[in-house]
Amino acid sequence: MIDWLLALPWPERIAVLVSASMLAGVLGGWIGWFRNRMGLGMLLGVLLGPVGWLLLLLLRPAYVPCPECNAAAHPKWARCPVCKCDLQRALKRSAGSAQRAARADWR
Ligand SMILES: [Zn+2]
Repeated sequence: MIDWLLALPWPERIAVLVSASMLAGVLGGWIGWFRNRMGLGMLLGVLLGPVGWLLLLLLRPAYVPCPECNAAAHPKWARCPVCKCDLQRALKRSAGSAQRAARADWR
């Protein structure tokens, strides 16, 4: 693998390394998406490659608390894994409640 890379001329060698780095970033973003850390996953994938993927898997996922039961849940999930409530609806409702509370406080 290394011999094959070193046999290439410089511009192609750089192109192969940049392509591999971008592919690692895309894979890192894909892994990060499941843990709600897509941007960090892409960054770690580009900078560290497979080591970044492992780091990403070791990091705590950036989940949001379920408004109904406070269990950790991905903001894109349809249902809470614990209480099975409609998570999208509950998240929207809680944002609206927060806005109403802020308005009441402002008056
Ligand atoms: Zn819940």
